[in-house]
Amino acid sequence: MISDPDVVGLLYLVAIVCFIFALRFLSSPKHARKGNWVGGAGMVIAIATTLALDGIGNWALIIAGGVIGSVIGIIGARTVKMTAMPQMVALFNGVGGGAAALVALAEFHVAGGDLGGEEIVSTVLSALIGSVSFAGSMVAFAKLQEWLSGRPIVFTGQNVFNVGILLGAVALGVALVAGVDEQWVLIALIALALLFGVLFVLPIGGADMPVVISLLNAFTGLAASATGFVLDSLMLIVAGMLVGASGMLLTLLMARAMNRSIANVLFGAFGQVQTGAGGTRVDDGRTVRATSPEDVAVQLSFARKVVVVPGYGLAVAQAQHDVRQLAELLEEKGVDVAYAIHPVAGRMPGHMNVLLAEANVPYDQLKEMDEINPDFPQTDVALVIGANDVVNPAARSDPASPIYGMPILDVDKAASVIVMKRSMAPGFAGIDNELFLEPQTTMLFGNAKDSIVKLIAAVKAS
Ligand code: NDP
Repeated sequence: MISDPDVVGLLYLVAIVCFIFALRFLSSPKHARKGNWVGGAGMVIAIATTLALDGIGNWALIIAGGVIGSVIGIIGARTVKMTAMPQMVALFNGVGGGAAALVALAEFHVAGGDLGGEEIVSTVLSALIGSVSFAGSMVAFAKLQEWLSGRPIVFTGQNVFNVGILLGAVALGVALVAGVDEQWVLIALIALALLFGVLFVLPIGGADMPVVISLLNAFTGLAASATGFVLDSLMLIVAGMLVGASGMLLTLLMARAMNRSIANVLFGAFGQVQTGAGGTRVDDGRTVRATSPEDVAVQLSFARKVVVVPGYGLAVAQAQHDVRQLAELLEEKGVDVAYAIHPVAGRMPGHMNVLLAEANVPYDQLKEMDEINPDFPQTDVALVIGANDVVNPAARSDPASPIYGMPILDVDKAASVIVMKRSMAPGFAGIDNELFLEPQTTMLFGNAKDSIVKLIAAVKAS
């Protein structure tokens, strides 16, 4: 048992420093693994210190909870597929928010509603934000898991209704702060906040869920921080703030990379197929040219510089290992290979970095958008694998396009572009892509994994 507050403070400080370093390391794929370890070590120190505090008891419950949580966590993390990562994050995030709300309720119950000014404000905030985050994350999970339709679910008067529910929850919170000490008021507040969480996420399209999850993640951080004030735990206050701040930054970065405002993501019902909107194809006589793995293999083998552009389809096809193998073969033939990483390629932040790191692609070959864009005019072949919106030139040239202004990878400036996808179907934004009709572009239709396996065989044979 640790009873010296200075020792507790010091151990918590070490844990906090670990978290800050973990965030720093996680910002680059090179150090991300180390970041995970350092963050994990910080968490072990924080949990062990908390459990060793004076007054901690009920060990049977603590151990049972720890074992159940660890088993679920380990099995979940080991079995989840890369494409299911966003919903996994939604689940983890949601339970964090739910825990904050439950702690608030428990503390209120133990104190019989008799909490000081600062404590009751924190309790209300923790219950309110934690419940919104829990319910919202569960809906986000259900949409990503396709248990619920990914389409925006809307009804007339929705916004007014939602604001009414939120104001109702806030009014109950104000009553509690003003001195009402009835437990049912807090329970009613939690019920309204849960309802608001569900209604807030329902109208958002499934494809925008990663941004929503990141925002809800920031909410969970704030709720945890408020819980820190309730429990008088400096550790929880700081850790919650770190989550809140990084979640908020991530949300803003994702929105900026898509050139959309947070309001557009939350209320724009984006991701539905656009009909007649900007970016749709005009029938101007140009035709799509399909190619074969053999032709592509020859082109690649004789290129000096090839830039691989991975997108969501690469993740779906789980073709990352095959891509690395193909790149290695080309390098053996003296071809210079690099990977162009768009900040929102895929369906979650850092999706492509994680995917390619998993396949042991050397980090120095991964080039961020700003770094690689000036290289495209000197590139012989841009190999676009399952990417669509992030290479759509309409973002540069068509002010009527929904993605106009979104920074893109300038693959159309390469001497030759090969696009690997299954059909002419649009990507996430639901719009056609003029790149597929450009004279320098040829399409290699098929599942990305199958196509790359055929390409590998053809390159070996060429
Ligand atoms: P897109 O969604 O634009 O395009 C993916 C393409 O992959 C599709 O056109 C599809 O075409 C193809 N595809 C799907 N499955 C396969 C397969 N098995 N084999 C081969 N091809 C396949 O993806 P991008 O990565 O280019 O763009 C990401 C989009 O997601 C952007 O619009 C971005 O704003 C958005 N977004 C990204 C977030 C992030 O954090 N990364 C968050 C929220 C949104 P076909 O069906 O013909 O095969």
